[in-house]
Amino acid sequence: MADITGTKLVLFDIDGTILYTGGAGRRAMRRALLRIFGSTGPIKNYSFCGKTDPQIIMELMNLAGHSPDLIGERMDRFWDVYVDYLEQEMPRVHDLKVYPGVMKLVRELHGHDGTMLGLQTGNIQRGARLKLEPIGLNRYFPVGAFGDDCADRDQLPQIAVQRVREQCDRDFRGRDVIVVGDTPADISCARYFGAKAVMVATGFVSYEELQRAEPDVLFRDFSDNRMVMEEILR
Ligand SMILES: [Mg+2]
Repeated sequence: MADITGTKLVLFDIDGTILYTGGAGRRAMRRALLRIFGSTGPIKNYSFCGKTDPQIIMELMNLAGHSPDLIGERMDRFWDVYVDYLEQEMPRVHDLKVYPGVMKLVRELHGHDGTMLGLQTGNIQRGARLKLEPIGLNRYFPVGAFGDDCADRDQLPQIAVQRVREQCDRDFRGRDVIVVGDTPADISCARYFGAKAVMVATGFVSYEELQRAEPDVLFRDFSDNRMVMEEILR
């Protein structure tokens, strides 16, 4: 296996970290829940923040009174329908927002000899790809771990590292893995793996709340490219 001493694997979350889809993901979820389960559960006051897609469906449909068995049985069909709706919703988004500095940061990390890029996201893989497609970022993230790999976000960094090992013959451990995200759940999964947690307060979680969850590094946004690169490579 290649010696990668000093090389970093940087794993990006998507929603709240890279972009905001203007609610397209939420709308697609809502429509798919209605179609497959006949109700949305208490989706109106329910936070998607930091949760994996299967976790969201399980929690919402549990609250709607469905048994875990029934939810599990309908899950595969649910994803097909959700992806169809997301495909319809994404082109309708007029306020798709890529957060400050993200495009430059991703391109720079991609071009840097000392880093490899990947995803760690609660989105199922097909959903993640649909969200990154309009901004042309899929090609920078050939590997990753997704909500359909595991409903428990804490497991995602390990799965991403394993995939990189299989596909690229490179091994990453501990703080050579950097989890980039926007919620306490991202900090938690970084801790679980022993990775470094680099957080950004561009999503729905405030700077102060993220600060209380004690990330290794915290930014208001990624507009100061030099500073962000320095902290990631440190
Ligand atoms: Mg997020």
